[in-house]
Parts: sequence; C-alpha cells; structure tokens
Amino acid sequence: MIQYIKVDSRSRTETIDITAEVRALVRKSRVRDGVCQVFTFHTTAGITINEGADPDVQRDIICFLNKLVPVSYPFSHGEGNSDAHVKSTLVGVSQTIFIEEGDILLGTWQAIYFCEFDGPRSNRKVAVKIIPGNR
Ligand code: ZN
Repeated sequence: MIQYIKVDSRSRTETIDITAEVRALVRKSRVRDGVCQVFTFHTTAGITINEGADPDVQRDIICFLNKLVPVSYPFSHGEGNSDAHVKSTLVGVSQTIFIEEGDILLGTWQAIYFCEFDGPRSNRKVAVKIIPGNR
C-alpha cells in the first residue's frame, strides 16, 4: 500500500523537512525491519536527505542550486520553469531509508526533505511505500 504525505510550499525554491511525517507512517505500520521508499510524482520537485541540525545547510543547498541553475538561463521549455525541472533531475525524486526496530534509520544529523523548485504550491504529494524485510 502506498501512503501519501501532502506538502504545501511557501517559496519558489525551498526544502521542507518531512522526517516526522515519514517516521509517523513507519511507526504506525508496525513494520520492525525493512525499507521505506519515499518518492514524489512531481517533475519540479525532489526528495533529499541531508543535515537537519543547522538550517544554514539547507539555505546553502538552495542558494547553490539557484546559482548553478538560474531561472534566467535561456531554456527552450515554454512554461518558464526549466530550472525547476533541471533541479529535480539533479536532486532526484526518491530516497530509500532502512527500517530497523520499527523506526527509520538515519544518521545523527540527517533529515528527509521535500525539495520545492517551482513553488509556492499546495498539495504537493509525497508517496511513501513501506516494504517489510525478511528476518
Ligand atoms: Zn515545465
């Protein structure tokens, strides 16, 4: 079964911490051991795992992606959001997280982020699939 997390973004480009929502779904599933796949169906968004302790890291990632892929670059795509499509491809649309002892297994400083590259938008969807392992 696929479950969904809904995300509302407030800026054109931002990262939104969804760790608590993913963790809640895993705990509710009562799966003790397995993997959790986190995926977004959007072509102008991404999913990444990176530092959640110092918010400057998220600001630096967004700032650098905006410098690397500026919205002002002369892209062909008529919708005017090719920078967002390129950023989505660079970051990727999914992450796989181990489940151990009924909880997601992340590094001490890691958090799971939905990456908005063409916001603000409401009702962005993140799919979560919890796959039990064999012990
Ligand atoms: Zn487009």
